[in-house]
Formats: sequence, structure tokens, C-alpha cells
Amino acid sequence: MQKLAVNAGFTCPNRDGRVGTGGCTFCNNEAFTPSYCQPFKSVARQIEEGIEFHRNRYRRAERYLVYFQSFSNTYAPLERLRAVYGEALANPLVAGVVVGTRPDCVDDAVLDYFAELARTCYVAVEYGIESCYDETLRAVNRGHDFDCARRAVEATAARGIHVGAHFILGLPGETDGMMTAQTETINALPLTTVKFHQLQIFRDTPMEADWKAHPERYRFRTLDEYMELFIGILRRLRADLGPYPQRTVDGHARKTSARNGRLAVPALGGVEGDACGLLPVLPCGRMDMRGPVPFGYGAFVSAGMSAAFIWRAF
Ligand code: SF4
Repeated sequence: MQKLAVNAGFTCPNRDGRVGTGGCTFCNNEAFTPSYCQPFKSVARQIEEGIEFHRNRYRRAERYLVYFQSFSNTYAPLERLRAVYGEALANPLVAGVVVGTRPDCVDDAVLDYFAELARTCYVAVEYGIESCYDETLRAVNRGHDFDCARRAVEATAARGIHVGAHFILGLPGETDGMMTAQTETINALPLTTVKFHQLQIFRDTPMEADWKAHPERYRFRTLDEYMELFIGILRRLRADLGPYPQRTVDGHARKTSARNGRLAVPALGGVEGDACGLLPVLPCGRMDMRGPVPFGYGAFVSAGMSAAFIWRAF
């Protein structure tokens, strides 16, 4: 099974003025949108091109989960959602959909629709939550609070839909203690999957300007520091959300350190460049991480999917 990203041309209420303008301070959707995902192409065509693209890289993939990743993929009237997701599921090689969205972009009607789909195919709704701390969410102009995220996760899980959450580690103002402590809050959510992503600062984002004006608000960890933080989180994470037994996590961490901090981040692609400069946004397969790494290295946990992206040394 291979995850295959498409861009259905949705926008975001934190950009178009309904919730806010300017978006989350860290946001640059181009940073994670593959080149074949262009909203001027139909969803059906993007899927065909994506399958062709992945066929060469992952020859064993037989079926696909279509990943609606860019922007807020439930931010449209229900009729449009039915058309878009129906188009994706019409391809016989598509086994299901993964829907990335904001917690404030779902309601009962939308979740009932996904629950209806989930009776015949795989459906996961993945929420960008980013932090459990309201002061952090305000600082990055997220436009919703943590309680909003909790309600969305609970309403989704209550319908039997797989539900995931994304968090960013290293947002300004958060200490290692805060990031580790929020694991208890995450554990209390009825999640199927969780993804942690290191903070990346991209060119021309409000966060880049903030970082230049107030560098003291940001802390960039060395590889060993980041691994220590992340292993602390993994140790506290609910058992069914962690991909590895604990000894395996520790073992890979040691092995990775011994290899001078080189990690492969195959699922995201990762970025390559000067660890202390601003990175280009296009993924190119790997990055070299020696010394302090402001825009870092990948560390993801996602249970249930093909998701052991972390600590894969090469
Ligand atoms: S990160 Fe998501 S919610 Fe925030 S501005 Fe970007 S698309 Fe909108």
C-alpha cells in the first residue's frame, strides 16, 4: 500500500479571512507538495500520474491511499467534498483516502459523510493540531485553540473513523519539558495515529521574519539533543501509538549517533542543504546533520500505517 498525495485545490480559512489572514506563521504548503500535485489537474489525473511516479520508486505497491494533504481538505460545501472524494475512490487501485484538515473545518455533516465512506474503504482524517498549548497556538496564528482540536478528534473517533494528529516539535516558546509533558494530553485523545515533525522555517514565511527579528525565541537542537527529546516523548506515548518496542527505539538511536547523525527520511523526502542556512523547499531525499540543525531532521511516529520513518540509518 502506498500513500499518494494530491492537491484538490482547497484553500484554508486561516488564509482567506474566514478565520484569519496570513495563515499559520510556519506555513508553506509548497514545502510538502510533490511536483505532480497541481490543482489545475483533475484529482483523477493526479492519481494516475502519482501512480506512475510511484510505480518506479515503490515497485511492490499494489494499491494506494490518496492523501489530501495541501491546505484544508474539508473546507468546502459537502457537495464538493462528495465530488472530490468520489472521484478519488472511483479509481480501482485506490483503497482509501487520508484527509488532512484543520480541526475547525469539520462538522457533523462532513464527519457523517466520511463515516459513510468508511463503511466500504479506508478513511482517515488527520488534523493539524501542532501543539496542546493555547499560548503556542496563538503565537503561531493558528486560529483555533486546543479545545477545538480535542472536540474534532473525539467527534471523528466516535464515528469509527481513523483519526490522526500532527504536532510540531520546537515551536517558539515551548521548552523540552512542555513538549514532553503534552504527551499525556495526546495520550488522552482517541487517536489512531500521531505524527511529530521537527520545526522547519521556510523562506518568505512570517516565521522566517520572526526568527530574524527574535532569534532568542527559537532553540535549534543538536541531533543528540533532539533525539533525547524525542525518545522521551516516545517513552511516554501510549503503547498503541508507538511503532517500536522501546529497546528498538534506543537501539536505532545509538546506531544513528554512531553514524555521525545521518538519517534517511524516505517518506517525506527530507531536504538537503546547509544546516545553518535557510533550506530550499523542494524535497531531495536526504539531509546531512552535523552540528546544530535549525531546520532539521525528520522524526515521525505514525501507528498503523507504513510509518516507521524514524531512525532509519544508512
Ligand atoms: S498550516 Fe494549514 S491551517 Fe495553517 S495556514 Fe497553512 S494550510 Fe492553513
